[in-house]
Amino acid sequence: MIITNKFNLPAPFVSLAQRDYIFEPNEYRVTSLLKGVRETILERRHHEKIERDVSDMVWLLFGTAVHAVLERHEEGEHELKEERIKIPFGNYILSGQFDLYNDKTKIVTDYKTASVWKIIFGDFEDWRRQLLIYCYMLRKIGFDAQGAQVVAFLKDHSKRDAKIKADYPPYPVQTVKFTFTDADFAECEEWLTAKFKEIAAAEKLPDDELPICTPEERFNSGDKFAVLRKGRKTALRVLDSMEEAKQWMSENGGDEIQVRPGEDKKCIDYCAACEFCNYYREKVVNGNGGSKAV
Ligand code: SF4
Repeated sequence: MIITNKFNLPAPFVSLAQRDYIFEPNEYRVTSLLKGVRETILERRHHEKIERDVSDMVWLLFGTAVHAVLERHEEGEHELKEERIKIPFGNYILSGQFDLYNDKTKIVTDYKTASVWKIIFGDFEDWRRQLLIYCYMLRKIGFDAQGAQVVAFLKDHSKRDAKIKADYPPYPVQTVKFTFTDADFAECEEWLTAKFKEIAAAEKLPDDELPICTPEERFNSGDKFAVLRKGRKTALRVLDSMEEAKQWMSENGGDEIQVRPGEDKKCIDYCAACEFCNYYREKVVNGNGGSKAV
């Protein structure tokens, strides 16, 4: 990866950003598996050419700094800290690094930086999946991991909002807990098998033929359906589905429904491989997925 420093940020930021990951053939990290297969493969293929500016990586660096502080804590009698484990999975190696495992409580702990919105929306499926895989891996090497927790540091927390809003996280640090059953571990194995099968098929394909990341993987905000009236510039009403828009138009009037495609937030702001993705070039940059009336 090529690291630039357009805003002349101090040298420690730059050296932290330059700590690079070396991709081993046939080895995939848990965090890579949580992304779309297209993104994962493009990132590996073009790693040497991907350019990122230090200013774009500050939250990543903040997360690393939080880890560095917590790393200083001495391991307790029953604790395993910051261990990278690798297990064979079919023709591949699955590699994962958790922050802390306590063999007495059987709990994996992971520290994360997050937005308060993640807590407000209760949007934890990605965390759950990641920690379930760590527990699965620990079980494969002989530990009896049964649950997990994320200690989340909320980077945009507002003390003022915490005082006046009922559903707002009261403190800038929150713990989210998960318990896993045998059925969860069986499902996890099926999920990993399907993912590696998808990767094996995708590795043989050229860049432009890789399966497009799903709307969920692209953090797509969802299509909207605007009821329009001829001669009026703004929509009468914007709804979340075609059915709702048709229903609304039949009850309230309007001349046509305009489909407004959702925004691919991941492609726009967070995908390091976007430059090498034809979906990004054609649909996001050139806007070939623009609004159309039906
Ligand atoms: S730009 Fe979007 S579609 Fe392309 S690899 Fe990245 S996330 Fe996937």
